[in-house]
Amino acid sequence: MYIRYLHVYYLAEPGIALQTQHMNEAWTRDQLLVVFNLYCKIPFSKTKANNPLVIEIANQIGRSAASVAMKLGNFGSFDPALHAKGVKGLSGASRADRALWDEFNQDWAKLSIESELAGSRFRGSSLTMPPERDVAGPHTDGYSVKFEDIHSGPSETVREVKVRLHQRFFREAVLASYGSSCCVCSNPVPQLLTAAHIVPWADREDLRANPRNGLCLCSLHHDAFDSGLWAIEDTYQIQLSSALMAYLPNKVLEVSFVEFSRAQIRMPDKFWPEREFLAFHRSNLFRE
Ligand SMILES: [Zn+2]
Repeated sequence: MYIRYLHVYYLAEPGIALQTQHMNEAWTRDQLLVVFNLYCKIPFSKTKANNPLVIEIANQIGRSAASVAMKLGNFGSFDPALHAKGVKGLSGASRADRALWDEFNQDWAKLSIESELAGSRFRGSSLTMPPERDVAGPHTDGYSVKFEDIHSGPSETVREVKVRLHQRFFREAVLASYGSSCCVCSNPVPQLLTAAHIVPWADREDLRANPRNGLCLCSLHHDAFDSGLWAIEDTYQIQLSSALMAYLPNKVLEVSFVEFSRAQIRMPDKFWPEREFLAFHRSNLFRE
């Protein structure tokens, strides 16, 4: 069986219709993985039973939309970023919910792939993914691979598939967390938005899919960040480099950069950027 990859997989063809399970039936691991994957990819304010994506996922996994919305709220109860905003999520999370939360946070690389694959199993493995131009890393053309190759195929194929799955998960999770606009200038144009890695893609394989290693940036602020022309302090304030300031006075730079100097980035609704990763960027890339 061949799978193709979808850019936004919730827009995939409707999955196999399954009979809705009784509310009290225990959640399977695959069901939890798929709902956690959805939790990462939609703003917390949209984790409601009337959200079409929630309804679609509920249909795919054979649960009611209300029970999926409740599970999303349960995951939210673990989220420190939501706590900091005074959002509590729902009480009543199970031990299995907590265990899955911990599993993701300990190994985003592994769990992001597991959750993407669980989703593809519910949908009958019919997926496609166009070439990515906007995420750091190898940019290959769209292609198909055998499903079983993901685990047992040639090592090069396995590596490429993992890269693509990490890219997709990372981009969708980061853009959703930041409400799909640049966290510096609030640019909302999708074609200009990217999911930037704080610790570069090439430096840490284990952080490639971790949304806390991500920032939603417009192309200009992404390029400037990767080049070390600005950085983020522990207070989440924007610090401009002397390398950039050397070009002042300049009208464009004043509007695009100086305007935001010392301001705090717009914080995401979940997955706050990890201070340790910001410090790595300052030490290794920032051109003070
Ligand atoms: Zn921007």
